[in-house]
Amino acid sequence: NNALSSVRNGSSVLNFVRSYSKSATSTKLFIDGKFQDSQTTQWIDVYDPATNNVVTRVPQSTKAEMDAALESSKNAYKTWKNTTILTRQQILFKLQALIRRDMKKLAASITQEQGKTLGDAEGDVVRGLQVVEHSCGAASLLLGETLQNIAKDMDCTSYKLPLGVTAGICPFNFPAMIPLWMFPTALVTGNTSIIKPSEKTPGATMLLMELLNEAGCPPGVVNVIHGAHDAVNFICDSPDIRAISFVGSDTAGQYIYKRGCANGKRVQSNMGAKNHAVVLPDANKETTIDQICGAAFGAAGQRCMAISVAILVGESRNWIPDIVAKAMKLKVNAGHEPGTDVGPVISTAAKQRILHLVENGIKQGAKCELDGRGVVVEKYPNGNFVGPTVLTNINTNNDCYKEELFGPVLSIMTVDTMDEAINIINGNKYGNGTAIFTTNGCHARQFVNEIDVGQVGVNVPIPVPLPMFSFTGSRGSHWGDLHFYGKQGINFYTQTKTVTSMWRKGQSVAANGSASMPV
Ligand code: NAD
Repeated sequence: NNALSSVRNGSSVLNFVRSYSKSATSTKLFIDGKFQDSQTTQWIDVYDPATNNVVTRVPQSTKAEMDAALESSKNAYKTWKNTTILTRQQILFKLQALIRRDMKKLAASITQEQGKTLGDAEGDVVRGLQVVEHSCGAASLLLGETLQNIAKDMDCTSYKLPLGVTAGICPFNFPAMIPLWMFPTALVTGNTSIIKPSEKTPGATMLLMELLNEAGCPPGVVNVIHGAHDAVNFICDSPDIRAISFVGSDTAGQYIYKRGCANGKRVQSNMGAKNHAVVLPDANKETTIDQICGAAFGAAGQRCMAISVAILVGESRNWIPDIVAKAMKLKVNAGHEPGTDVGPVISTAAKQRILHLVENGIKQGAKCELDGRGVVVEKYPNGNFVGPTVLTNINTNNDCYKEELFGPVLSIMTVDTMDEAINIINGNKYGNGTAIFTTNGCHARQFVNEIDVGQVGVNVPIPVPLPMFSFTGSRGSHWGDLHFYGKQGINFYTQTKTVTSMWRKGQSVAANGSASMPV
């Protein structure tokens, strides 16, 4: 509590981070509104990426615990689906205020488990909070359609109704934003929700559950189970779970999509990315370089919308030294240290994978203009740090181009025309995000029209739409029909019931005496 109040007073986030780790033990399950110790014998350690100290451990939920979570969700659904929309909205209004109140506490937990800077961690919370705020408008978002007199004395109305029990499976890189893409929309539309946070970053979800209780959300509307493959298979196979929201890697996302769909569920699966920035020579040089470096190296490159490839068109190829100079200035350190630009990557395995891919890329012909592989942060010698790394002479066959590195590595390609850049991007399997930097409206318009990527920025490096729109990654980055949040998110979590009624004076049933289909 002391730590909490010091955070609320804004006096010391660092104190909070320290006391949080002292008090940290095992992460609990959240079932039927209560935080419970797991009875499992199998645990997964969660590490602080800056130190590799164990922060907490996450249970691999037992079958009985997952069954209990499902039972709680099913029971809660019976009453929750009939709760008035205004009541559901009120709970989200309260949740919204509580998240704002505890912003720094949530951010500190994210920084400790995920490694990103405190400022970036607040951004993680804010982007999820915006989905909560949008969901507060459920009364309008859930309006159906109605048409009077579709036949004599006959009217038709459609309702957007909940599905039942839904589930969300989350990645490590946005510990608050991604769960908040899922359960607020699910619950405001009348569903109940089982969340499985990433086993690497469970803390923010648990804090959000405390806030959900404080907001007065009834027990069972949201349950949290932990674990890895067994928990995922439980979600994919349970006949009582109607829909799955997934965000994470291709391997897991394709597997969950196939297994969930084979079991008759609705699945939305957001997966990997390779986001290209195209730089035309008429772009504003200074801001473009700033934006590209922020988007490539911020959050240590562990954003699904990070720019990992810059395609310099024509004379902008001469900007490489300036990009390197800017990248060199970025400060690598633990995320809670003031002034940090680039925190550690999530694990020693992730670091080794990045180093290995960069080494392979160099063997395959890439030139390393800035090498962050040997970076040392004296105060945190055990952290998973990789410094900003810039590779040139990249082609589409290079491993550093083909693989999603998910680290602070920018690959630079050079071409003569914008058409060549468009061909490269449209030939890539992913369609999450892309950006063009130019001061020429005609070129920008042509790019927007011809590019086959779901989220396009014009002089905007990370074009993540706000929740009045939806997060619309395409092709290899998204499987499913309906995207996260916005109108599509509402549609994902609802089904349509259409009611056709006839009320005729003097008779309640149509009696035309015919067995044929009415025309
Ligand atoms: P991950 O796939 O390793 O883990 C995501 C979830 O899937 C976790 O809850 C994990 O327990 C589970 N999981 C992992 N491997 C599995 C398997 N083989 N079978 C079944 N379940 C499995 O992803 P991550 O490393 O936590 O997150 C990084 C990835 O997420 C990157 O590829 C990134 O691009 C992607 N991502 C995409 C978006 C998007 O909106 N497109 C947003 C954020 C992150």
